[in-house]
Amino acid sequence: MTTIPAASAALCDDCGEPLTADPRFVRWCPACGWNARPGGAPRSAGAETAVELRFLAAARTSARLRPQRDLAWLATVLVAGLVHLLTLGVTVGGVDLLVTGHLPAKAVGLVLLCVAFSLRPRLGSLRSFRRNQVTLDRDQAPAFYALLDEVADHLGARRVRTVALRPDYNAFHARLGLLQRPVLGLGLPLWETLDPRQRIALLAHEFGHGANGDARRSLWTGVAVRTLAVWSDLLTPAQMPVRNLVELIARWTVYPLMALLAHLVRRLAATVHRLTLRSGRQAEYLADAFSVRLAGTEATADLLAALTLGNSVAHVVRRRRNAQAGTPRRRGERAPRPEADTLWPELREYLASIPAEERERRLRVSELEGTAVDSGHPPTHLRLEFVRGLPPWPGELTPPDFADIDAELAAARREIARQLQ
Ligand SMILES: [Zn+2]
Ligand SMILES: [Zn+2]
Repeated sequence: MTTIPAASAALCDDCGEPLTADPRFVRWCPACGWNARPGGAPRSAGAETAVELRFLAAARTSARLRPQRDLAWLATVLVAGLVHLLTLGVTVGGVDLLVTGHLPAKAVGLVLLCVAFSLRPRLGSLRSFRRNQVTLDRDQAPAFYALLDEVADHLGARRVRTVALRPDYNAFHARLGLLQRPVLGLGLPLWETLDPRQRIALLAHEFGHGANGDARRSLWTGVAVRTLAVWSDLLTPAQMPVRNLVELIARWTVYPLMALLAHLVRRLAATVHRLTLRSGRQAEYLADAFSVRLAGTEATADLLAALTLGNSVAHVVRRRRNAQAGTPRRRGERAPRPEADTLWPELREYLASIPAEERERRLRVSELEGTAVDSGHPPTHLRLEFVRGLPPWPGELTPPDFADIDAELAAARREIARQLQ
């Protein structure tokens, strides 16, 4: 704890306790919360929050966190089956009309086949995943993959085929192709600023997605959700100008019909979303429980708290650019880019310099705003509450010596730093 010199410590008008003193951050009162979220209107605890609290309570009380094969699950599987049947019908109908129909029918068949082509399941492929991304394969990084495999094996998840190293402050787990090959996306700004135990917690959460039976991520449901999105796009008519009688008639007959169908499709997609939301949240909490199991309660809680510091990356990048712009140079000459290798130590140093009160404030803001890393995740403060509510656990995996792994990631680190600045 740093002690603030009495002379500089302004006192809170509301409660008389000292305000925070670091001029780089918002000045607020940790005792009563005054100005913790400056300028923000108080957010009413709406229906959304109530739903999230129910999901949290369910996650806490369920003995086995694994998403259950309940009625919602059955309904999702059936709705997805209908969507697939429709795709199949359009395809088979198109082929049939094209082969056996008369000329006008052949034209309809061709249109149906075009629609079927738009509806084809897009499962992704390793090749498209590697395109435009910095990927690191098994043979390039044996120490890194040894750690990834250890985490995967511990959780009973499949080992990943490849890893994309990315410029964002997040990570993801995905499955590609008909064989559903697992891949990992790892944001280096996040990875590079975590300590060894937090890195294990992050990997455990991501690999947890390969082992938690999340219905949203199954091939059957996932393809149906994407198909509904394509239907909605196809049925939403572009605003076309009316230049003749045919177009005028179309505007008043075909378009409203399409709009109605598009509306129904969107309602169906919303229903599927609602049906899978609960199991999706259960899956996320289960992934956090995996983090606790492998990395321990403290490391997992620290990781979740670190997720609120994401905007530090943009801050440090901006600061470095401005410092570089100030260096003397000839007229018309562009400022040189900052040295790529120094970004990471500077980012780590900046994050380490953020005082405890500011970290606390970010957590409070995240709680007040109900922020999550993305819409697929529960609000971060509820994840923290969940983790802290589990029996304290030291973690089952001893973090390896990261020197070898750091060396294997050196080229990617340089490349991502270049992308960032
Ligand atoms: Zn106060
Ligand atoms: Zn997740």
